[in-house]
Amino acid sequence: MKHPDEVPALVMLKIAAMRAKRAIPKDENLAFCYKMLNRVSRSFSIVIQQLKPAPLRDAVCVFYLVLRGLDTVEDDMSIPIDIKLPILKEFHKHIYDPSWKFSCGEKDYKELMNKFHFVSNAFLALDKGYQSVIAEMTDRMGAGMSKFIEAEVITVEDYNEYCHYVAGIVGLGLSRLMHASGLEGFQPDNLSNSMGLFLQKVNIIRDYLEDINEIPAPRMFWPREIWGKYATRLEDLKHPDNSENAVKCLNAMITDALSHAKDCLQYMEAIRAESNLRFCAIPQIMAIGTLAECYNNIQVFRGVVKIRRGLTAKIMQTMTMGDVYGAFFDFSKMLADKIDDRDELAADTRQHIEDIQEACESHLLETRVYSINQETGLEYLMFLVIFLLLCFMAYMLYHHW
Ligand code: MG
Repeated sequence: MKHPDEVPALVMLKIAAMRAKRAIPKDENLAFCYKMLNRVSRSFSIVIQQLKPAPLRDAVCVFYLVLRGLDTVEDDMSIPIDIKLPILKEFHKHIYDPSWKFSCGEKDYKELMNKFHFVSNAFLALDKGYQSVIAEMTDRMGAGMSKFIEAEVITVEDYNEYCHYVAGIVGLGLSRLMHASGLEGFQPDNLSNSMGLFLQKVNIIRDYLEDINEIPAPRMFWPREIWGKYATRLEDLKHPDNSENAVKCLNAMITDALSHAKDCLQYMEAIRAESNLRFCAIPQIMAIGTLAECYNNIQVFRGVVKIRRGLTAKIMQTMTMGDVYGAFFDFSKMLADKIDDRDELAADTRQHIEDIQEACESHLLETRVYSINQETGLEYLMFLVIFLLLCFMAYMLYHHW
């Protein structure tokens, strides 16, 4: 075992996942929604399930599934464009109609679409304030997706615009839902947008290979304005002959993504409720961690690059802004250590890292629940043994009670 310090966190994560599975509401519509959420996104499921109070949690769960439905339509390449376009544009109306159905997608997504009436019913049971936020954001996202259905992402401006539609709008919607719950102040749209863009760009970078190998047709989100400097066709970057340029291009994409990190810290700084902070911060920390893994890493073009499960489990323990600053500081340092000064964008990358570290620096003495860097030593092992014993006892008690 290379990272024994991650074991307690893994155990806690397992318990949280088990709890999330059990805490299914009685109402059949919400029950479907939470079960589906568990299946389509394990990590979001855990952070959504810990949201408080229940009405906000339900609204976020329904919002997530509505957008998943919309995205399933967008992603299904077997739907002819003349059928797809009106569905994307009208999706915000369909959610008000439990008799509406459109079969598409695969596996879990197919079931989500076939049983979409559960989502509609759950949506109709939400407060009107939540309903109008979800409907407005679905409208804006559907319209934006339609615009890009046939258009290629050419400039960095296009790239930002596309990411705004598919993710920035999620940020805007979540800010409005949290505000409507009465727990949070109003966050500026540009910061909410950055929260979405940062996550989306990290996914687009990490999923290069999966997207380019998509059948029947490759899916391309990297802007030509960036990759055009390194290849004549985007798919050429995966060929071993082009490794050097591929990594340069990757680093350019990561440098662009890093430009949003400062806004994200500013957004999170303004969050008041702990459960909202956890909900927002965990995906953000995963994102900067993923960038640190991917930077200068040819593996992005060969397979799947992911954060270790144990590290993910630690990140799931995030509680306070102290944890957020600490994690952003550590991951940005990990990334900075990989910068090669011969890289033509090295100075830009370093500038973004400095901005992040500057924002974090004055908070590094705050209490942290965990540290990204490994801690070892006898003290630690003792803690581990006691912790495991406690877990075991709790488990036995729970099952015999
Ligand atoms: Mg999509």
